[in-house]
Amino acid sequence: MAVNEEPKAALATASRTHTSDDAGHFQHPLYQVTLQTPGLSVGTAVFDDLMTWGLKNALWMFPMATSCCGIEFMAGAASRVDMDRMGVIIRATPRHADVMVVAGTITTKMAPRVLKLWEQMPEPKWCIAMGSCAISGDFYRNLYSVVPGIDTFLPVDVYVPGCPPNPEALMAGMIKLQEKISLQRTGKFVTPEVKPELLKITNPSVPRLNDPARRPEQNHEQELSADSPTVDEATAPLEVAAEGPAPELSPLTSPDFEGLLKELGIAELPKDGPPIIPLEQHLALARKLKSLGYRQLVTIAATHWLAGKGRKGADEAEPEHFEIAYALRTVGMGSRVAAWAVRVKAGQPVLTLSGIFAGADWQEREQYDLLGVTFAGHPDLRRLMLTENYVGHPLRREFPADAHWAPWR
Ligand code: SF4
Repeated sequence: MAVNEEPKAALATASRTHTSDDAGHFQHPLYQVTLQTPGLSVGTAVFDDLMTWGLKNALWMFPMATSCCGIEFMAGAASRVDMDRMGVIIRATPRHADVMVVAGTITTKMAPRVLKLWEQMPEPKWCIAMGSCAISGDFYRNLYSVVPGIDTFLPVDVYVPGCPPNPEALMAGMIKLQEKISLQRTGKFVTPEVKPELLKITNPSVPRLNDPARRPEQNHEQELSADSPTVDEATAPLEVAAEGPAPELSPLTSPDFEGLLKELGIAELPKDGPPIIPLEQHLALARKLKSLGYRQLVTIAATHWLAGKGRKGADEAEPEHFEIAYALRTVGMGSRVAAWAVRVKAGQPVLTLSGIFAGADWQEREQYDLLGVTFAGHPDLRRLMLTENYVGHPLRREFPADAHWAPWR
């Protein structure tokens, strides 16, 4: 069977807009001649049946498996279910594949890449959305970073519901796809009617490909988004001047964590979180702890508090602030943990620990990315997980849950 030989650009557009009713026709000139020649059309019908049989029994899959559903997908290829017996072979390149199986959550950062892989698959091609994350975003649907259903950017042929669907469900989905291909080839496929009242409940923030409300430019915007980010000034990487080591007000000398806390004026550990130490002693404490054997940086995690809010019993008049918690541990048998926190006003930087613990580099970037906490002296403070053109910091308390991220949400 010859593949569609239209130019690539046209192919890409066609692939984005193909609907479930597209039958796809064999394009070989000989086939076209026999189709138009009286008497030969009977032979063509037989030939057509044969080709359709071959087509639906040799569906090669491209595994777009991103999370837990991917494990069930793998089980489908293993010996108990053994989808090979249906002619399903899994290929690790989109150029060899007929069916993309999207098994797992797709984030807004990943979506342009998924789209690019889809465009690289030759026609005819089909897409299966496996699991509720791929179908609708599932319980991540209202999260800032997740696409609310892959049919907001890919044409989906078969939906396999479940969280996760088991391998047998995937196989049932493949059988459905085979049926669909047969019906399409014979021109009998009818797109199921979508009930408008159901659409009202389930409509994602970005219209689906088959939704008449979708703007035609949306496809193009989605295609471009991976290649040409426009840096928003509000979230551009900060130019943070290196401030050097923190002033060490008094040398810390105690041989254990409890003693060090006492030196910092903390006699008793609070019950609702790590002790808050003076900001100017933060670096000195980290250095001292490392010299005492706390060599592993476990975590750096910030919490955002709006004005007048804070830990239990916090002062009503307290301004908007961040609490940044740190945890270190000793390595080896009988490991001990040392945890503390510092408090900074919104916009006030805290000194980086990246000069003491290499792992602080990424952990601080994560806090900058998600909360907007700045770390003075950090060698490369820029976004870590979200793209540079992402607007805002999604783990701040005022950030809207179902956040807008055009053109994906
Ligand atoms: S649908 Fe369920 S099992 Fe599948 S990726 Fe989402 S959370 Fe995981």
